[in-house]
Amino acid sequence: MIEIELTEPKKSTCECCGGTTTNLTRFVYKDNDAFAIYYATFSDNHPDNAVVGIVSIGGWTTDEIPPERVAFPFEIWQNEDNFNVGLTNANESPWKDVDILGKVLDREEALSHPWIDDVFHITDHIVVDDLEVVNFFKLNPSAIN
Ligand SMILES: [Zn+2]
Repeated sequence: MIEIELTEPKKSTCECCGGTTTNLTRFVYKDNDAFAIYYATFSDNHPDNAVVGIVSIGGWTTDEIPPERVAFPFEIWQNEDNFNVGLTNANESPWKDVDILGKVLDREEALSHPWIDDVFHITDHIVVDDLEVVNFFKLNPSAIN
């Protein structure tokens, strides 16, 4: 069972356009144990209307950064009937240099990683349980394409 701890979002003014950027830091629990964290960001004023994020899995019950910890950069967008989740490459991720996330994987590495099912399990929850993300998509019907 996956649970997402919802903390206060950080809102800031986007340097490129003056829109509002929202940044989320979320802790994910699996069967009540710290399992993963993710970061997500989106803007109310960008034409792509996507949520950009990264999930980090591995050893989140300890304070160390264990060698097996890895991070999966992703994007979520919506079309008429559902949400799409795509993996992106490490160098496209705004968090590619954040050491605490572990090694940031490229798309191909991510897709063949044994934890990829956990990543999609978490993103399935993000679009249902993370109210900031849910509201962002509700408020952006123009994202339907
Ligand atoms: Zn902007």
